[in-house]
Formats: sequence, C-alpha cells, structure tokens
Amino acid sequence: MYAVKANPSPEIIRTLWDGGITHFDVASINEVRLVRGLLPEATLCFMHPVKAREAISEAYFEHGVRTFSLDSHEELEKIVEATGRASDLTLCVRLRVSSAHSKLSLASKFGASIDEAPALLLAARQAADALGVCFHVGSQAMSPQAYIEAMTLVRAAIVQAGVTVDVVDVGGGFPSIYPGMDPAPMQMFFDSIHRAFEAMPISYSAELWCEPGRALCAEYASVLVRVERRKGDVIYINDGAYGSLFDAAHVAWRFPVNLLRGSTSAATEFSFYGPTCDDMDYMAGPFVLPADVKAGDYIEVGMLGAYGAAMRTAFNGFVNGETVIVTDEPMASAYAVTESTPHSVTAIRN
Ligand SMILES: *Cc1c(COP(=O)(O)O)cnc(C)c1O
Repeated sequence: MYAVKANPSPEIIRTLWDGGITHFDVASINEVRLVRGLLPEATLCFMHPVKAREAISEAYFEHGVRTFSLDSHEELEKIVEATGRASDLTLCVRLRVSSAHSKLSLASKFGASIDEAPALLLAARQAADALGVCFHVGSQAMSPQAYIEAMTLVRAAIVQAGVTVDVVDVGGGFPSIYPGMDPAPMQMFFDSIHRAFEAMPISYSAELWCEPGRALCAEYASVLVRVERRKGDVIYINDGAYGSLFDAAHVAWRFPVNLLRGSTSAATEFSFYGPTCDDMDYMAGPFVLPADVKAGDYIEVGMLGAYGAAMRTAFNGFVNGETVIVTDEPMASAYAVTESTPHSVTAIRN
C-alpha cells in the first residue's frame, strides 16, 4: 500500500498505480474520495484508528472500502454499526510499538497496548471476515531492528489471544536518504521482515502487508526556492515552516541543497528564514552552499517528495508556486538506479 498522506498529488498517485501499486492507505474521507476519483479500481484501506462515523459509512457504502484499522473496542463497535454489521470486513488491530529506532515518533497517539491486545483481537475476530494486526514503528526507521522488535510483540499478542490472523501489516516507516542520516539498506529491512513473518504463528495463506509513505515518494520532488536576502550565514528564502519546509523548521530535518548557478566558492554552512513574518519560520540546517550565495539565486532543496508539498499552508499569503514535471534523477536515492529506469521528479517553483 502507498500511504497517501505522505504526498497526495494526483501525479504521484497515478505514477505509483502505473508502477504496479494497487492498494492505498487512506486516513480521511477526503483521501478516500481523492484516490477513488483518480483510480476507480484501486483497493482503499482506511488505516486511521480513530475515524468519524459518517466517514466510515461513506467509505464503505459509496467507495467500496472494506479494510479498516482500529485500536479500541469503541472504534470496533463504531465500524460495525457504521457499516450496517457488514460481513465482508477486513479489520486490522493496531498495536502500540516503540519508535526508538525512528527519527519521528508515532508511538504515543495510537495503538492498543500488549495487555489490551488479546481481548481486542478476539472481539475483532468475531466481527471480521479477515483479521489483521498492524503497527507503525515511527517514520524514517533507521534500522530493521525496529520491525524485528515490533513483530516480536505482535507474535506475543497473537499467541496470547489464540486467534487466527490473516494479515500482518508492518506499516510504514521505511527510510529515505537525507544529509546526516545513514539508514540500513532497504533490502536488509525486507530480509528481516520476511524472516520475522515466517516465524509467526499464522496460517500459510496469511498475507504480509506494508504501508510505506516516505520511502515511495521522498525522491519524487525537489522544491526550487529563491534567495530574497542574505544576512551573514542566514539566508531568507521564499518557502519555509508554513510551506513545504515544515519538517526542516519543526523537527530540524536537513534536506540536501544545491545552488542552481555554478559556483566554485568554498562550501559554507547556512541556516534559512522562511517568508512569513513569524520568528518560528526558521530552519536551522545546516544547509551547505557555496560561500558567495546571494539574493536572486535559486536553490534546489531536494528529497521533498514526502511531507513537503503535502504540508503547505496559505499562511501569510505565501502559497504561490508552479509545478513542473521533469525526469532527471533525485538528489539521493535509496534504490539502485539503472539507465532504463529514470526517476520522475516534480519541481515546485515559488
Ligand atoms: C504516516 C503513516 C504511514 C506512512 O508512514 P511513512 O513513515 O511515511 O512510511 C503509514 N501508515 C500509517 C497508519 C500512517 O499514519
């Protein structure tokens, strides 16, 4: 599944569909409508564990959604009622697992604890046509150990509940490549997950699912920003904390940067101010650029396909931008690139 949240642009949703991705993790009724409108034949899975009653009903009755996640008895009852006690549901019980190996935690908000899980699995089994167990190890997991530990927990919950499980969904969290972050190779994640899956007390026909967002789209887009002013080693640019650089500001994420005009000046560390009037519109970086960067220059900020354009607001009026489809390589890649598989990159110009 592709987690639509990471980048809901129609272009990437169609690109992924053309590339063979048929299942989409949607979290709101607007994401359900969006993907259904673009891809009438896609399978949609509503993986937000706390949903509005009317969203469940519309998803089930109008958009053919059959897979829902939950982490409480209340949500289970809500899904059962809102679907008219449907007999064709795939219900995925979300377990709370550690985010210790990840850069962004998803450990507090959702997920049944290991103590709550057995009773919830039993109750969901009664209401489900197919029963799944899901979790999220946090975004940008740096080591396969995250999945190994989570799957050990899942295994214990299944054994305690004594239920038949049809789906193990290891969620998202697969990493991409950013400055200062050096995740284990993707294949190591897959190998570890397959080994852990094989050791699970589940039937031969059980399915292994995942829901990556970041790893499928981080490389898809760059943002081109313009330098409006330079003050020492701080650069004022025309995108920022309330735009596609939310993560650069709020969680001090570093993105690769590249000055578009050539320069032989020495590499120097800069921080950025965004365009709004807010002090918080600040990105510490450091972002490494040639020392002679100046007002009027354009900078490519790379690896912004995930949680970049998806996070943009119109705050202070700074929302204008132009999207251009290009086909050059991303600034970094977690995948082996061959001549025959060029990447498609969207650039947004503010
Ligand atoms: C955000 C989210 C994802 C995608 O996470 P990434 O870290 O981008 O891979 C997948 N599943 C759920 C339930 C999520 O909330």
